[in-house]
Amino acid sequence: MTRAEDRVLIAGAGPVGLVLALSLARRGHRVTVVEKLVDLLDQVRRAGTIHAATLEMLDDIGLYERLERRGLVAPLVHYWDRGDPEPIAVFDHGVLAGDTRFPHALQCDRLKLVEEALKMASDTDLIEVRVGTELVGFEQGGGSVTAVVETADGEREALRGTHLVGCEGAHSVVRKQLGIDFEGFAFPDRTMTLSVVFDFDSLQPYGLRNYILDPVEWANLFRWTDFWRVVLPADVDADPDSLLDDDVIEAGLQRFHPIGAPYEVVSKSLYTVHQRVAATFRAGRVLLAGDAAHVNSPIGAMGMNSGIHDAVNLAAKLSAVLRGDAGDEVLDRYVRQRRHVAVAHVQAITIRNKKLMAEADPQTRRRNRDELRRAADDPSLAREFLLRASLISSVREAAEIA
Ligand SMILES: Cc1cc2nc3c(=O)[nH]c(=O)nc-3n(C[C@H](O)[C@H](O)[C@H](O)COP(=O)(O)OP(=O)(O)OC[C@H]3O[C@@H](n4cnc5c(N)ncnc54)[C@H](O)[C@@H]3O)c2cc1C
Repeated sequence: MTRAEDRVLIAGAGPVGLVLALSLARRGHRVTVVEKLVDLLDQVRRAGTIHAATLEMLDDIGLYERLERRGLVAPLVHYWDRGDPEPIAVFDHGVLAGDTRFPHALQCDRLKLVEEALKMASDTDLIEVRVGTELVGFEQGGGSVTAVVETADGEREALRGTHLVGCEGAHSVVRKQLGIDFEGFAFPDRTMTLSVVFDFDSLQPYGLRNYILDPVEWANLFRWTDFWRVVLPADVDADPDSLLDDDVIEAGLQRFHPIGAPYEVVSKSLYTVHQRVAATFRAGRVLLAGDAAHVNSPIGAMGMNSGIHDAVNLAAKLSAVLRGDAGDEVLDRYVRQRRHVAVAHVQAITIRNKKLMAEADPQTRRRNRDELRRAADDPSLAREFLLRASLISSVREAAEIA
């Protein structure tokens, strides 16, 4: 008979917690996931691009096909100068055909991933998902971890497991209780994310993923299945409430592309971008993954992707420990590998992307444009560029870390 402590406890049923649960269950391990929200699909939409390296991992656990049906296959990435009807450069993932079985990104929002992962989780007795259940604290000792959880009606319960993984996002209770520093900084400006029902393709030949450079009003424009996602910088000195005013948003969109009619905006959110990595991802039997361990600017679509890579990496190592095939020290390798990726790839690339979008110096802008053009036109340079952008390089480099 299985004992309660034979299970792994996961806090947070976001993409990272659920992929970790599915990956562990696939290896035959029991998992309990606690999620504070009652309705997981009632969330602000964010994260819409899934990169090649992640698609392979999702395919390995049976999630890819479900998502492909609900998303858009995006082989191209366009770079533009704001106001210029011709792209600076167009990168084609076809150059990755020898590197991945998915030479494209998939435009598919985080909520669809969560929804499909929950369906898969409900098909196995190995995964228990408790919604409306918030992790409020934990203790470890005597070969197990005891998590204290609280339900929406204030009932507290202790759950025992072999390990606890904090996948509960940037405000992680686990990280805070462990007193682990969240090292890094916040950009002084704010970013506005809008979901807009309008065919931006009718204005100029946009692709599914567009990065639009401008020193003042850079933009990101992504096509999702049912709307377009527009990301714009917001006035750093303005009052946040006024920035979310419908008229202010409408004016910002009309400056971006005047269309002579009001835009249909179906969602709006304003946020401050943090670039942070936890000082460590492990304390004994307690671990961190995903946004609980690292956060970054969404320019480049790396947060959810790299978090899923954490989950897949960690599942293999936890499984080896649980089976007795490896000692606990293998979990430190998880930290070495994934912390390296968070710092040297995800932070480095997203900080550089932000700088590229908003570069103000005319000479540097010209140089950036020349480099983008040269890279897109040369298959070998384009491959190098996309290996990094699609996080394939990060996975390869991590595998080399002992
Ligand atoms: C505008 C925007 C666009 C983005 N676009 C992309 C993109 O295209 N590609 C990409 O890779 N990334 C993107 N990101 C980043 C991405 O959204 C995150 O990196 C990703 O959602 C992190 O997943 P996670 O599972 O670690 O955490 P989360 O998605 O934050 O999930 C954490 C879960 O834990 C739950 N929880 C919180 N506290 C507790 C608790 N105490 N107990 C129990 N449950 C708890 C939460 O309710 C939530 O369900 C974007 C981010 C933003 C803001």
